[in-house]
Amino acid sequence: MGCKLNFSETTSIARLLENDGFIKKDFDEVADLYVINTCSVTENADKECRQLVRRIQKKAPEALVVVTGCYAQLKPQEIANIPGVNLVLGAAEKFNISAHLKELSKNDAGKICSCDIEDVNVFTASHSLNERTRIFLKVQDGCDYNCSFCTIPMARGKSRSESISDVLKRVDEIALGGAKEIVLTGINLGDFGKGYTGGRKHEENFFDLIKELDDKTNIERFRISSIEPNLLSNEMIEFVSRSSKFMPHFHIPLQSGSNKILADMRRRYKRELYAEKVELIKKLMPHACIGVDVIVGFPGETDDEFRDTANFLESLDVSYLHVFTYSERDNTYALELKPVVPVHVRNERNKILRNISYSKMQQFTEQHIGQSRKVLFESVNKNGMMEGYTDNYIKITAPYRKEWENTIVDWKI
Ligand code: SF4
Repeated sequence: MGCKLNFSETTSIARLLENDGFIKKDFDEVADLYVINTCSVTENADKECRQLVRRIQKKAPEALVVVTGCYAQLKPQEIANIPGVNLVLGAAEKFNISAHLKELSKNDAGKICSCDIEDVNVFTASHSLNERTRIFLKVQDGCDYNCSFCTIPMARGKSRSESISDVLKRVDEIALGGAKEIVLTGINLGDFGKGYTGGRKHEENFFDLIKELDDKTNIERFRISSIEPNLLSNEMIEFVSRSSKFMPHFHIPLQSGSNKILADMRRRYKRELYAEKVELIKKLMPHACIGVDVIVGFPGETDDEFRDTANFLESLDVSYLHVFTYSERDNTYALELKPVVPVHVRNERNKILRNISYSKMQQFTEQHIGQSRKVLFESVNKNGMMEGYTDNYIKITAPYRKEWENTIVDWKI
């Protein structure tokens, strides 16, 4: 379940198990072991997990069921109580799954192996492989911010990262495997640079990382999955505009277009800074794609403040929105804020912003019709068709051609 980072970690867990002799099956097939990597952002994570376990029990009653991931760290007991769950692994244990499996039997019910999130301080590298043409490479984990709606710091712990030299080694390995594009992922990617390698503390920064990747690796394309506006420096934007490897594609969380709501969310910027970043990106790279995360229905968001956000988004030269409906999370400061926005109002606001997103996406695509851009096609034949993305993240569907698989092709939109 969940985000790109979870996706890369899920693949790493699968790889660990394959090294131990397990064979990977589709979730719908019968297996001896099922691992569910949960997400805390997913609404109703508990319900979804319950449903999955029920499906497993019907299909393979003798199978072992292990649940890990953010939700397992936040609510281990809740998950352990789900009938059919044999083992719950917290954040520190998810990559030790092999060791835990050696001691696990079907008679174990709801066993929990988890520790306090304050004690989770080791960075474990992971990346997706053989799943998609684009590889999601985790270079950072955890977060030291305390946005008032967010439980991720409680689920993933303090900010920590891989060292630049280790990232470079990993990227070389990935390049040898033939991949053309790497998406750098993290929980708070712009905060890259904190961490320990072999017990030694390193202090580096994200700008240094992207410069080194640009300079010293053979990967043709990099994308930055998501970066906080206050951590996206003007130098980085200028650098990406000059780089042939870093794609003109940014995903920058805004969350609200009202400065009052931003302050209540404990975000570290005002909307003016956000507008400046978008303006600079479009000035230097008019073709750049910019995605925006936004939350609707945060406590205290009045009709006026919501309109303010909608108008602000309309005025920005961005390409698409990811709209999230606020939902209450235990142990967050936002729970204390009033008045609560009724759920039907949250849903209406979500719909309004999704409509804005749709027209922004359409506008952005139409601006490029007739232009030639480079498309990286994926290695999947979907009923005679194949898909790929341009440098600026426009999705292209074309009749399948074997020789285009995992290849960058000049394409007239
Ligand atoms: S920056 Fe804020 S929203 Fe993002 S993970 Fe950290 S606390 Fe959560």
